[in-house]
Amino acid sequence: MVWSAGVSADPARKLLARLGMEPLGEQFDAAAFHAGLRARRAPIKQVLLAGDVVVGVGNIYASEALFMAGIRPTTRADRLSRARADRLHAAVREVLARAVERGGSTLRDFSSATGEDGHFQLEAAVYGRAGQPCLKCATPLRQIRQGQRSTFFCPVCQRA
Ligand SMILES: [Zn+2]
Repeated sequence: MVWSAGVSADPARKLLARLGMEPLGEQFDAAAFHAGLRARRAPIKQVLLAGDVVVGVGNIYASEALFMAGIRPTTRADRLSRARADRLHAAVREVLARAVERGGSTLRDFSSATGEDGHFQLEAAVYGRAGQPCLKCATPLRQIRQGQRSTFFCPVCQRA
């Protein structure tokens, strides 16, 4: 099949037309990530889990990256500014790089359907810590359900 230049020039459509980017790959740059998010109206946590913008971000990693970036998990993906998307992009890479470092040789080891990984959970700043003090501000952390999955966040550090 031959694609017209018009189709391939649209980065958001290009992203949606295939599986998401590998988070530790070179293709996963901040501009492409922001373009992918701008095409999605779902809550950012669910967009991360869906795998069509970026792959391999399991349930724990999504909560951890959003905490690191200071973004509320319920915020609509298309409402994130470029600056906030950049912070989240860096956080996703850091969380996954750390996870790979701690327990696996490849990212694939961590992209199970559930994303529940025991090793990394021990290191989690928010995941599984509902009611416990936030490591940054000591406010009790909250747990909510999003698409049948548990999400953990700090109501103060992740205001919006
Ligand atoms: Zn906090």
